[in-house]
Amino acid sequence: MLFKDVIGQEETKKKLIKTVKDNRVSHAQLFSGPEGAGSLPLAIAYAQYLSCGNRSGDDSCGTCPSCNKYAKLIHPDLHFILPVASTPKVKDPLTDKFLEEWRKSFIENPYLNPAAWYKAIGLENKQGFINVKESSEIIRKLSLKTYESEFKVVIIWLPEKMNDQTANKLLKIIEEPPSKTLFLMITENSGNILPTIYSRAQMIKIPKLEEAEIFSALKQKYDFEKVEIKDAAHLADGNWLKALNLLEKTGESRLHFEKFTALMRLCWVRDMLGLLNWVEEMSRLGRESQKLFLDYGLRIIRENFIMNINPETSGEMIRMTRYESDFSVKFSKFINKNNIFGIASEFNQACLHIEANANGKIVFHDMANRLAKLIKQ
Ligand SMILES: [Zn+2]
Repeated sequence: MLFKDVIGQEETKKKLIKTVKDNRVSHAQLFSGPEGAGSLPLAIAYAQYLSCGNRSGDDSCGTCPSCNKYAKLIHPDLHFILPVASTPKVKDPLTDKFLEEWRKSFIENPYLNPAAWYKAIGLENKQGFINVKESSEIIRKLSLKTYESEFKVVIIWLPEKMNDQTANKLLKIIEEPPSKTLFLMITENSGNILPTIYSRAQMIKIPKLEEAEIFSALKQKYDFEKVEIKDAAHLADGNWLKALNLLEKTGESRLHFEKFTALMRLCWVRDMLGLLNWVEEMSRLGRESQKLFLDYGLRIIRENFIMNINPETSGEMIRMTRYESDFSVKFSKFINKNNIFGIASEFNQACLHIEANANGKIVFHDMANRLAKLIKQ
């Protein structure tokens, strides 16, 4: 991972590079930032920079033997401690048993979140955790001499996933590490880290990304219409992962938008035959799609209420795409303090009923009938 491949975060990159130049590399550092801000790729770019045999003033070379190994995460002086759990294939869960999946997942998307990681290693509904055995494992590895680099680096991804016992064992080695050993911990939730660990590390705060940074990174990566990229960057709220998901879902939300506007129009003119057709179409979708539609509707209703009570609200406050806000300029006038709770509750209730396996046709039929009354209030 080169610094130039990490989106934005220019100030943090400069600070990290300066620690190397000034020979002030702290042996325990905690990269703390929200999901999708890039804490993990930054930490790995930093480790690669330290190890690069031919680094420049602002990045690793990308071509030396060390960089080549880093690109595949197979450098012998780079170690990982990750949250894992037992799976049908692995009964005794330790990071080393999942390294292949880890390399693949990170290389595919260096901004991956815990959910994506758990899915990649086949944890269905389970959470990963950092096994207490990782500490003896890492002590063993660190007692070997460095192979090829000046530093040995241990990346601890999500230190909030360790319990007291694990933390205490690791703490000893973090406090008195073998020389030239670095612990880079990466958290998305520093409030959940045990204070003993938290207080021993130097904190590197990673802010969420700027909208403009996401926009230009998306533009480089995708061949989409500019307006879709602009919308995704705006709605992502500084989270690269969310921006990627939004672009994937562009087609899907367009469909929800059309269903939603059709429903509201039919309700407004009380076109009962039209509503019956609408209900018929909705009932043919799968339950997951029905739920996604209801979530979508709820979001648009809320944003429209904000627009209604404060028509001057800037684009910053309203998280909507261009076509959604074009529609909402007029529609927001109908979502007011008299009906917002009723309408929102209709969407919520319908969602609960769908989750509870109620008949979709009945749920949407009842909802549409009540919305037709509420919308006129
Ligand atoms: Zn290099």
